[in-house]
Amino acid sequence: MAVLVDFHCHTNISQDSSAPYYDMVMAEYAAGVRYLCITDHCDTVDWHTLELNPACRTVAEREREAYETVKDRIPRDLHLRKGMELAELIFHPELAEELSTPPGLDFILGSYHISREHGDYYFQDYRDPAFRRKLIDIYLRDLQRVADLNYFDVMAHIGYFRRYASWQGVDTGLTLREHGDRVERLLKTLIQNGRGIEINCSGIRDGVGPFPSEEILKLYKSLGGEIVTVGSDAHKPQDAAKCVDQGQEVLKACGFQYLTVFAQRKPEFIPL
Ligand SMILES: [Zn+2]
Ligand SMILES: [Zn+2]
Repeated sequence: MAVLVDFHCHTNISQDSSAPYYDMVMAEYAAGVRYLCITDHCDTVDWHTLELNPACRTVAEREREAYETVKDRIPRDLHLRKGMELAELIFHPELAEELSTPPGLDFILGSYHISREHGDYYFQDYRDPAFRRKLIDIYLRDLQRVADLNYFDVMAHIGYFRRYASWQGVDTGLTLREHGDRVERLLKTLIQNGRGIEINCSGIRDGVGPFPSEEILKLYKSLGGEIVTVGSDAHKPQDAAKCVDQGQEVLKACGFQYLTVFAQRKPEFIPL
């Protein structure tokens, strides 16, 4: 087994986590992780009102401060990196651009959870096929916009709404049979811009498979994509590094020989 990596996890700098930074770091280390990046939410809009969220301006600073408080107390063989999950970039592109080059951070995940038309994908009703098609259509349109903006290193959890649909008994994802052309265009944009994707293992943890699915990972590889980070998306210490070992095995099975970590916004490749 290759060294364990987790490049997507949250602490109480994120509004939906109460995990103290040091506890999270040490839980990841105890789970075997040796390359770790904390990626707290940096939300350009408020999740409920969709108004501009002023707190996003201080996330990078809080991230650096938290790192400083632990850096002399962590094991020497832990490579701890500072990052953030920069979200909803298309609502305020100028703000997103400004936030995307924070001094001192190693890694930016670019993510998308909310549409202007319907709000957060967490709250949608996936049971009506026509509405579901509309949601997925908007999802792909907006992911393409995020990719075109290009203010991040790696696009987070492509197709993650599958988890929420599964809670309603609906199995739906971004299948290539239905959405192949648009997914391919999205991946080509990311590759041309030198950006990567992640394999988000929270879907493995929840029984619906990784985000994105294996077939999209294989397509990305066949198009020449090489940058893939691995993340648990843990929000509490009990979930630290959950299923990242399986995620790394999935990558190998999809033909990748390396996974990617970042330092100072530059990719580094680690054999799988
Ligand atoms: Zn996310
Ligand atoms: Zn996350």
